Amino acid sequence: MRIQNWGTFWAIAGYHVALLVLLPFAWGDFNWATFAIYFVTFVLSGFAITGGYHRLYAHKTYDASPAYEWFWLIMSMLSGQMSALSWSNDHRVHHSHVDTDKDPYNINRGFWFAHIGWLFESKPLPIDNRIVGDLLKNKRVVFQHDHYGKLFLLVNGVVFGIGCLFMSPLASFVGCVLLRIFTIHHCTWFINSLAHMWGSRTYSKEQTAADNALLALVTFGEGYHNYHHAIANDYRNGIRWYHFDPTKWLIWTSSKLGLVSNLKWVNNIRIQRTLVKNDKQLLLERIRHEIDETAHEFRTKLEELSKNFEGKAAELNKAYRELKDATDERRRVLLIEIKQLRRELQAAWKSWVSLTELTQQRYALAH
Ligand SMILES: [Zn+2]
Ligand SMILES: [Zn+2]
Repeated sequence: MRIQNWGTFWAIAGYHVALLVLLPFAWGDFNWATFAIYFVTFVLSGFAITGGYHRLYAHKTYDASPAYEWFWLIMSMLSGQMSALSWSNDHRVHHSHVDTDKDPYNINRGFWFAHIGWLFESKPLPIDNRIVGDLLKNKRVVFQHDHYGKLFLLVNGVVFGIGCLFMSPLASFVGCVLLRIFTIHHCTWFINSLAHMWGSRTYSKEQTAADNALLALVTFGEGYHNYHHAIANDYRNGIRWYHFDPTKWLIWTSSKLGLVSNLKWVNNIRIQRTLVKNDKQLLLERIRHEIDETAHEFRTKLEELSKNFEGKAAELNKAYRELKDATDERRRVLLIEIKQLRRELQAAWKSWVSLTELTQQRYALAH
């Protein structure tokens, strides 16, 4: 490892060592308040990164009122991940150059580089007007960037002070500050490391980002990273209602309370139609030179199943269009039809996904 960024190295290595050394001494002074303050600040720091830095600033998936922005810009100090401006600058480069040398947390350089090494080994990327020009026009974001150090000390100082009311200063420093920064750092870094290694690649097969429900549990819903890389301008990362994505629930609830608006999301059928079209093209291209007998079968099956899916999707769209001006009686019939078609469409989608996985395995195309 060739360290270029010594300041960051000493800060991060220093607090890890401090935590390790001090934890056994502080442990005895921990009480219910330590865990309560730890938990509340951990949740706030997580949402500040996923709901604020990531989905609001880096990807602009919704609009927020100034008060809402201020709240998360201040709460983000609990996570110690530099300013929203620097974070979004790095993150937008990550999306446009994923898995290449220009990707700041390129997973092809290994788990440790993507997880933490990139912070030490590379000089911080300069703030580029062509990348974050929109954020440079946001006065709140620029203020937070310009006063980062002071705000970080102030917010964490307040948390430390509150902790001291309930426990010894050592317990407050270790339990309410260091431990929280340690956990939120590693949880966020897992998105750059594990979420680019471990999971399924349903939506974007050409790159390393993967969907992983287990990782979603510790990353406030960001574990559905394959979908996110495929469709980054969706306020959701887990698009199914049962996907554990507390950040999407937070944004949705905030929109119902009138704090945020203009939530961007992509209709599920439209996503699947695009995917089937792209996957088919990609896989047929990849097995173009295969001459064994099964390749012919795969080609026929890819054509057949994609056509089946497309047909069902077209029928469903037609039924939805007709529903708009249907009479009451026709409406009742159509709703039953739509229910049936939705079921058939999901079955067609499932068969399509298994076929693409089978093709990838058979011809060693999986990432
Ligand atoms: Zn992103
Ligand atoms: Zn990523």
